Amino acid sequence: MDHFLSEEQEMIVDIARQISDERIIPQRAELDEKHAFPGEILNEMAQADLFGVPIPEEYGGFGGGCFDIILAVEQLGRGCIGVGTAYAANFLGTYPLIFSGSEEQKQKYLPEVATGKKFAAFGLTEANAGSDASGINTTAVLDGDEWVINGTKQWITNGGEAEIYTIVAMTDKSRGARGASMFVIEAGDPGFTFGQKEKKMGIRASSTTELIFKDCRIPKDRIIGRQGSGFITVMKTLDASRPGIAALGVGLGQAALDEAASYAKQRVQFGKPIIAFQAIQHMLADMATHVEAARALTYAAAKHIDANPKNVSKASAMAKLFATDMAMKVTTDAVQVMGGYGYMQEYPVEKMMRDAKILQIYEGTNQIQRNVIGQELNKEYAR
Ligand SMILES: Cc1cc2nc3c(=O)[nH]c(=O)nc-3n(C[C@H](O)[C@H](O)[C@H](O)COP(=O)(O)OP(=O)(O)OC[C@H]3O[C@@H](n4cnc5c(N)ncnc54)[C@H](O)[C@@H]3O)c2cc1C
Repeated sequence: MDHFLSEEQEMIVDIARQISDERIIPQRAELDEKHAFPGEILNEMAQADLFGVPIPEEYGGFGGGCFDIILAVEQLGRGCIGVGTAYAANFLGTYPLIFSGSEEQKQKYLPEVATGKKFAAFGLTEANAGSDASGINTTAVLDGDEWVINGTKQWITNGGEAEIYTIVAMTDKSRGARGASMFVIEAGDPGFTFGQKEKKMGIRASSTTELIFKDCRIPKDRIIGRQGSGFITVMKTLDASRPGIAALGVGLGQAALDEAASYAKQRVQFGKPIIAFQAIQHMLADMATHVEAARALTYAAAKHIDANPKNVSKASAMAKLFATDMAMKVTTDAVQVMGGYGYMQEYPVEKMMRDAKILQIYEGTNQIQRNVIGQELNKEYAR
């Protein structure tokens, strides 16, 4: 379906599609097998200016909105959502600075992100604080002109690869959610190290590590926004970023559909290509319909966010929920259409099905997305 993109948006799609086709798809199986971070591919993406898309123009970017960035993410996700996750998590790590950073912080960090010179990551989750982020135990205590940070963040995408980390720590535990603040940490800050790289079911091209803070000392001006405003920035960040996860789902769903449909045209059983069987046609018809529906909702949510209304949480959560449940279903059905061949590593749908699962888990599980949508409905219908 035609979504009537502007010339600039078509250009973003073309650049990301070309990188996906020429650089990501030929390498994705190897990156997956070796759990290898796609540093070279990301450098090429930087040279193609893809890192500047959502960075404001005054800091060296293109000042694009949520819709612009998800167009790039969708194309990268069509190639490999491990690579797409590394790219998208870079902006997850950057949004706190864009939304709540001081002028000095923006001038220091954003131009380096826009050119791809430096890479970012976002650290919220801890061993005992996943869906319930208010349970974080990492602390930040002011000591003279420095914050002293202690604690461990878990499963942080781009961990060990990024140079800029935006993290959440408690500055006053007694104030509950209002006692959390965000900070920017730089690789190389004293007392800041990484845990081992996790071995994962899927998205193996993305790096996932712990961030370990042991009396990590950072200058006082590294706090992002007001003290105690950490969770407000986190919520804004996740609202802006979740359509990106939806877009990874759309790209992945499209890729799985493409593989399954081409296979069904050439696989012959009972003397006919299997696409001639109505059972297979119906599966493909449902897959194609769900991909288009997820794309339409994801694009609509991104455009809604770009219009800057008061509340975007429901639209953002709906897109993430629908498109990622779609990706899990469509990749599973792609394996089914391809039968035993689909289950073999020789064909890409095996990896696609393994990769899809994370989309229903990170940036808030799909149960949490339903909670967000439900809470918003509860407010709307109380009026
Ligand atoms: C590969 C990977 C990359 C990640 N990258 C990052 C990152 O870059 N930065 C970061 O900060 N975090 C990251 N995470 C963490 C991720 O966001 C969390 O895993 C996720 O939010 C869920 O938390 P949990 O795994 O602790 O699950 P839990 O919160 O323990 O949930 C377990 C189950 O209980 C359900 N559940 C929990 N509470 C409720 C409730 N109230 N209602 C209904 N169901 C509920 C959940 O939906 C889930 O099914 C990453 C995780 C992974 C696996």
